[in-house]
Amino acid sequence: MTALKEVNSRQLFMGRLAYGEDLLDEITAVCTRENIRLGRIEAIGAVQRARMACYNQKTHEYRFFTIDQPLEIAQLTGNVSIRQGQPMVHAHLTLADDAGNAYGGHLAPGTVIFACEIIIEALEGPEFIREFDEETGLTLWHM
Ligand code: ZN
Repeated sequence: MTALKEVNSRQLFMGRLAYGEDLLDEITAVCTRENIRLGRIEAIGAVQRARMACYNQKTHEYRFFTIDQPLEIAQLTGNVSIRQGQPMVHAHLTLADDAGNAYGGHLAPGTVIFACEIIIEALEGPEFIREFDEETGLTLWHM
């Protein structure tokens, strides 16, 4: 069932993430520190190596993969909502190599920042809480 809730823009944060840190951990840390419990994320930059995942819709399991080379972050897009009472960042990445080939997937722990310019839009409105979804096996927003 499609369901939408109205949210409003509260605040914008724009900055640079630290070299050598884990990309997902660092975005999550920023959200926790700035008390962002609902939001929208976008970023560009580069990674030293990447770890991403693709969800298998038949087995209901993520398949994780590592790309052990420097890559451009052509696009990072994601959101922040609540899982088990804490801000949870859900982000997808498109990465490009030096021949312009693109790789993409669900951002997983193990992606190391080379440089990253990020914009986070903090939103206000009803809480978006992730709960186990029977149909997909994912933790989706309980609407
Ligand atoms: Zn995902």
